[in-house]
Parts: sequence; structure tokens; C-alpha cells
Amino acid sequence: MTSVQLVVVGGGPGGYAAAFLGADLGLSVALVDPEASPGGVCVYRGCIPSKALLHVATLIDESRRAKAWGVDFGEPKVDLAKLREFKNNVVKRNTAGTSQLVKARKIQYLQGLAEIVDAHQLRVKPTGGGAGVEIQFEHAILATGSTPAIPASLQLPGEGDPRVMDSTSALDLPDIPRSLLVVGGGYIGLELGTVYATLGSAVTIVEMTPGLLPGADRDLVDVLAKRVARNMKDVLLETRVVQMKADAKAVRVTMEGKADPKEQPFDRVLVAVGRRPSSDIPGLDRTRVQVDDRGFIMVDEQRRTHEPSIFAIGDVVGEPMLAHKASHEGRVAVEVIAGENVAFAPRAIPAVVFTDPELAWAGLTESQAAKEERNVSIAKFPWGASGRAATLDRTDGLTKLLLDPESERLLGVGIVGPGAGELIAEGVLAIEMGANATDLKLSIHPHPTLTETVMEAAEVFFGQATHVYRPKRG
Ligand code: FAD
Ligand code: NAD
Repeated sequence: MTSVQLVVVGGGPGGYAAAFLGADLGLSVALVDPEASPGGVCVYRGCIPSKALLHVATLIDESRRAKAWGVDFGEPKVDLAKLREFKNNVVKRNTAGTSQLVKARKIQYLQGLAEIVDAHQLRVKPTGGGAGVEIQFEHAILATGSTPAIPASLQLPGEGDPRVMDSTSALDLPDIPRSLLVVGGGYIGLELGTVYATLGSAVTIVEMTPGLLPGADRDLVDVLAKRVARNMKDVLLETRVVQMKADAKAVRVTMEGKADPKEQPFDRVLVAVGRRPSSDIPGLDRTRVQVDDRGFIMVDEQRRTHEPSIFAIGDVVGEPMLAHKASHEGRVAVEVIAGENVAFAPRAIPAVVFTDPELAWAGLTESQAAKEERNVSIAKFPWGASGRAATLDRTDGLTKLLLDPESERLLGVGIVGPGAGELIAEGVLAIEMGANATDLKLSIHPHPTLTETVMEAAEVFFGQATHVYRPKRG
């Protein structure tokens, strides 16, 4: 029996950030995860491998576009085995790093699955088999993450078929199918759809709602949707898959909605219709921890469950299911356990879709403001007026600020365009620091960069943007 002050169940970006901070604050810490190293979904089969592949997709796309700038690289030849090796090495590099950090911090890393015995004890079943390890703890943090949700209507009858993929198998890049159906026009469908389309697959996206990325503002999505329409074979909105059958030649998919014909054959199908929280932790029912009707573990603003010794963080406690939200929650929970009076109360959690162009937002969105009937001022700077965007031959982007009309305080930022994922960080900092339009306007931004679009959007708010003539009425 091992005894620790803190045990963390799940080694994803939430769990390992929590374990690391716990050790930094002087707690004795154990971290449990079935993989050989911490990393979780994000590092092994999520954020990191997908972004490695998207980096290559961007390179291919740029090299094709370069023809118009007088540089012809020819059509790229893709060595799939080498591409897989690159992606796998990126993952290995990350997991080697997390393992090293576990050792340096003297954290007990237990490779296995945790089962809860009671509010102060759990048992770890080692991944490779063998005797279980019992751990007594003062506090536990549950960070068990999420798995792909595959509704019954999107499963093939019988044993299943490797041609119907989830994000994990799609990231393995089994081949470059001639035709790929992506079910779901959200984060994963668009990111992995972009990878496969750039590598040469004819990609069809079906999305059941009237637009791609239902949670994002339409003016931003419109810019992305134009490019997606160009790169994909078909984008079918308000369409659902009602049946799938497989034969030796293809997966035959019957759709309801805008598809014509209704039944179409595909070499492969990627199902990306959301993720389900992994709250089915064995023994959880031996505690007072409660789970809501969507399967999320219920927590308060300090990330404490209904069982005072047990906290929960990350995908398993709710949306947005994002790595940086999980890490931040993990750090909050540990500080609470260490006796600090803190809470999870961000003003802005950035969201980035790493498509081409990237789409990012932070803080209040326009659709959220409309839903809440909140009066906001909106200032938009079109990238057609940005010198930097022109040098990149990417003038289709947009930077948008949402401001409080009275205090002129920044409430939200939305950006679409290459590099939006990097640019949004300035918005997050400005919102968290309570910056107003004058702060953004008066901060000198380097020229020529896309960061100037944030400053100039603030100038638009005052009707004084250098590169946009839009005087303020009245
Ligand atoms: P996870 O990363 O899911 O880790 C949970 C860990 O707990 C897993 O290793 C699991 O095996 C383990 N576990 C489960 N049950 C037990 C148990 N009983 N005992 C021990 N261990 C257990 N987010 C971003 O912010 N940016 C991105 O670019 C991004 N890209 C993504 C791309 C894809 C394809 C996918 C699928 C997801 C992506 N995400 C991205 C989402 C991101 O991966 C998750 O939000 C993040 O991993 C959640 O972290 P977590 O710590 O809550 O859990
Ligand atoms: P998602 O919620 O982003 O998108 C799912 C999409 O599928 C939605 O647009 C939904 O309307 C649609 N849909 C649902 N059921 C459908 C059906 N039967 N037919 C057609 N469309 C249907 O989910 P995801 O793409 O699976 O990603 C899961 C989560 O993982 C994301 O919400 C996000 O939190 C995280 N993620 C983040 C990133 C990133 O940060 N860049 C990347 C990948 C994943």
C-alpha cells in the first residue's frame, strides 16, 4: 500500500499539469495512466499528431500556391510511411519530455487503470498485467478525459470495419483513400478533412446543422467555408447519415438531406460527431461523486466533486473539451488542495480550429451576445486592408472585436486567417487584463504583422483606422 497526499487519475494535459504543480508545491504525488508516459488523448491521439499532419498539409498547400508567385515545385510526392514516422516522432518527443519531467519531480508514475475503492483509496491494475497496487490518498483528481462518441446510426452492423474510422484511426493514416466521407463539420471533421483533402482524397463533409462549426460566429465561419468548399469535393449541410453498409468495394452510405444521390459509395468514412466524457471510472459509485445526464462529473468552481476529497477536471467535467482548459482547471484544483482560495473563473478560454485558414475566438462571441440580448459594439478589421496579409497573399481574413459600448472594455475577439491561433493570445491577455479599446489602439504593434489587425480593429471602433475609411457616425 502506497500513501500519497495527491493522486491524479489520467495523464492527459489536465492530469499531468495537475500532478506537476502538486509536486512543485511540495505534495507527494502519484499519477496513474494506462500509457507508458503522460500525454493523454492530446499528445498520443489528439492535438499533437493532428497538428503535425496539419503542418505538412499547410506546407503542401503553400507549395501549390507558390506557382502563382512564380515558383513551381511541381506536385508533391507523399511518402506515407515517412509522414507517419514524422508524426509518431513528434508524439515520442513530447512523451519523452513528460516522462523526464515526472522523474525530475519525483512523481510516482503508475502505468495502469485506476479503480476507486473508496473516498481515500484506489487500486491500479497495471497495463501489462500483474498484481494491482493499492494507493491511499488525501486528495484525488479525476482527469480521465473523453473518447469519440459513435452513435449507433454511424456504426456498421456486425463486427465493425476498419474503413469506418474515428479520429484515432484516422490519425494513423492507414492510406490516402480516393474518397472519404467525413461525418461532422466540427473541429475534428474540418481539421482531419483538411489533412486528407490536401493529401489527395476527394472529401465529402456532411454536417447536420445549417453551418460548419455550429458554435462559432458566422462571419468568421463564412471565410473558412469558402476555402473548405474549394478544397473538398462536397460540403453537405443539414444532412445526416441514416445508414451505412459495407461490401468488398466500398462503404455505402445512405444520407438524408442535401445529398444527391442519397446513397453514395466511399472508400473510407471518418465519424467526428463529438466526444463523450470518460466518467465510467470503475468504483466511482462507491463515492459521493455525481455525474450529470450528459455523463460529465459535476464539480463546483473549485473543481471539487460532491465527495470532498475528490476533484475532477478537463474533458470529463464539461465543455469546452480543450487541452488548455483542462490544464488550467488542473492547476486550480491543485492550488485549492494546497490551501489557496482560488477558483476556475476565466474570462476567456481561447478556441482555435487549425484549418486553413485558422479560426479562433476568445471571450464573448457575437452569437452568444445575441442569445443573451447583450448590447455590444463590434469593430471589424478586414485583412484586405492589411499590408502583411497582402504579402502572404491571404487577404481573406478578418479580425473582430466585441466591446462594451459604455466602458469600451474588450469582451471578445474573433479572428479568421492564417496564424489566427497565435494571434488570439493577445486577445486573451487583453480580456483577462480588462483592457479597453484605447489600450489596444495605443499599444504599438510591429509592422508589417498580422497583429496590427487587432490594433486597427480597435481604431475601427473609434472610426479612425489608418487603413480603413469608416468614420464613426455622429
Ligand atoms: P485526456 O487527454 O483525454 O486524458 C485522459 C487520460 O486518462 C487518458 O490517457 C486516459 O487513458 C486516462 N484514463 C481514463 N480512465 C482512466 C482510469 N480509470 N485510470 C487511469 N487513467 C485513465 N484540444 C486543444 O486544446 N487543441 C487541439 O488542437 C486539439 N486537437 C484535438 C485533436 C483531436 C483529434 C482530438 C481527439 C482532440 C483534440 N483536442 C484538442 C482536445 C484535447 O485532446 C482534449 O481536450 C484534452 O486531451 C483533454 O485533456 P484531459 O486531461 O481532460 O484528458
Ligand atoms: P464537434 O462538437 O466539434 O463537432 C461535431 C459536429 O458534428 C457538429 O458540428 C455537429 O453538429 C455534427 N454532428 C453531430 N451529429 C451528427 C450527425 N449524426 N450527422 C452529421 N453531423 C453531425 O466534435 P468533434 O469534431 O468530434 O470534436 C470533439 C471535440 O474535441 C471538440 O468539440 C473539441 O472540444 C475537441 N477538439 C478540439 C480541437 C482544437 O482545439 N483544435 C481539435 C479537435 C478536437
